[in-house]
Amino acid sequence: MQYELIRKVLERRDWGGAARVAGWVRTRRDSKGGFSFLELNDGSCLANLQVVAETALANYQTEVLKLFPGSSVAVEGVLAPSPGAGQLLELRATSVTVFGFCEPTAYPLQKGRVSFEVLREIGHLRPRTNTFGAMSRIRNTLAMATHSFFQEHDFLYVHTPIITGNDCEGAGAMFQVTTLDVGNPPRRPDGAVDYAADFFGRRVNLTVSGQLNGETHACALGRIYTFGPTFRAENSNTRRHLAEFWMIEPEIAFADLADDAALAEAFLRHLFQQLLARCRSDLEFFQKQLDPALIGRLETLAVAPFLRMSYTEAVAALRSSGQTFEFPVQWGCDLQAEHEKYLTEVLAKGPVIVTDYPREIKAFYMRQNADGRTVAAMDVLLPEVGEIIGGSQREDRLDVLEARMRGCGLNPELYSWYLDLRRFGSVPHAGFGLGFERLVQFCTGLANIRDVIPFPRTPGNAAF
Ligand code: ATP
Ligand code: MN
Repeated sequence: MQYELIRKVLERRDWGGAARVAGWVRTRRDSKGGFSFLELNDGSCLANLQVVAETALANYQTEVLKLFPGSSVAVEGVLAPSPGAGQLLELRATSVTVFGFCEPTAYPLQKGRVSFEVLREIGHLRPRTNTFGAMSRIRNTLAMATHSFFQEHDFLYVHTPIITGNDCEGAGAMFQVTTLDVGNPPRRPDGAVDYAADFFGRRVNLTVSGQLNGETHACALGRIYTFGPTFRAENSNTRRHLAEFWMIEPEIAFADLADDAALAEAFLRHLFQQLLARCRSDLEFFQKQLDPALIGRLETLAVAPFLRMSYTEAVAALRSSGQTFEFPVQWGCDLQAEHEKYLTEVLAKGPVIVTDYPREIKAFYMRQNADGRTVAAMDVLLPEVGEIIGGSQREDRLDVLEARMRGCGLNPELYSWYLDLRRFGSVPHAGFGLGFERLVQFCTGLANIRDVIPFPRTPGNAAF
């Protein structure tokens, strides 16, 4: 590489040493003393490098004075301690080479804050802001920490398909994938669309979860995880739902629900520890801008045990809380965001793992408990974001699973390969799904899920 990263340059103290950097000008200030300050950012860290450009530079009048926010340059110079407040060092330029000027009246990212709503309209430029730079680095660190955690614990990374004929128990409405002419599809004699003529010879969709495929590999290779995009055509315009989001789904053989909960807790703890160790200044930025309690909360979570309670206990706690909820609580109902909020923010003052939910509100593949009315399911709830993980021990008894599928109106014949895992050497196994963007929200304090993914897809919006 020809250029040194600004993050690396800012760590240097060898005054008089040469440096060569490239980046985008955030601001330019012209001093009366006959020189200009350029604040240069290259995305390698939150901080800018202060460049001092003297009038003696050959292109000072013709080019440097035309460097407005957004313009791109390479700078060669000499490192010096900075006399000014706010930075330890500066780069005294011996040459400034302009890659691209930036028209100040047209460029939307001038000095001063632009609202998140406006930034969503300029999704191609928002990576140049402090907020999106910091979010992107945190997102990257969480992704790498996901791999390091599972790799260190002997999990195999398995790539499950994006196009699928399975409906993972109706986890959400699905997007159909087809090459048929939707205006004039081939039809069968009865008038129905003839999917036998479609690309795959059948109806297929974008996946809502890699779990069922993941189970095949856990039931052969032991411990696996997936980390890929998932899609839900749910028309829910909330600040925590996307139509395309990334999910992390580990699956472990020879494991029960307690093992699953322990795995979820150890995984989250590892993520928070890595983030605190690697992204300090980005976290400090979000703490200052958005959430004064952010770092303290992550530090607590990185060490404190998560509270565990059964669904039945949670319902009892909610009913005796003395709170009035918009959705009144009774045994059998699903927990709403307001209930999750009470459990995490008031009762536990931290994360809660709720286990053993009523069978009727959970998916067919979850293992039925001996009480005949609950299943070995768990949700991990975090303060502020609510449910971040949903998981379960899987039903490993063929007859129980088949009966449950029929009870849910599913045809077991359509899931024969899934049932084969129970026919041929069935083992207890468990797993969970973690919504990656919910995690990034929690770790940044960004309130809207549209601001923690590079290009959000939501109802009515697939721009960029
Ligand atoms: P919710 O009740 O919040 O819609 P869910 O019960 O549909 O979630 P699961 O099907 O269990 O969620 O999916 C596993 C995880 O994926 C969830 O715990 C959550 O973190 C995340 N998730 C689910 N739906 C979305 C979505 N539309 N956008 C972003 N993340 C999601
Ligand atoms: Mn959902």
